[in-house]
Amino acid sequence: MTGEFLTCKDCDFEWHRKDGLACPICKNKSDTEITPEYEGGMFGTGKKPKRLALYYQAIGLIALVYLLYLVFGA
Ligand SMILES: [Zn+2]
Repeated sequence: MTGEFLTCKDCDFEWHRKDGLACPICKNKSDTEITPEYEGGMFGTGKKPKRLALYYQAIGLIALVYLLYLVFGA
């Protein structure tokens, strides 16, 4: 009788074996945890400013080289 039902060791939820071996509650929980993480990656302050700084650094370097070329090339 108990073999037909599975109990989650994380949230104590009990479900029938035919609904799947993974706990439906914890499965949903991990699904909703993925979304904020994904949005945090998209709008996070970690990567974008760094990339933008590199972009400006590259433009600054090119401008400097071009200025030196103008000064010493003329
Ligand atoms: Zn669970």
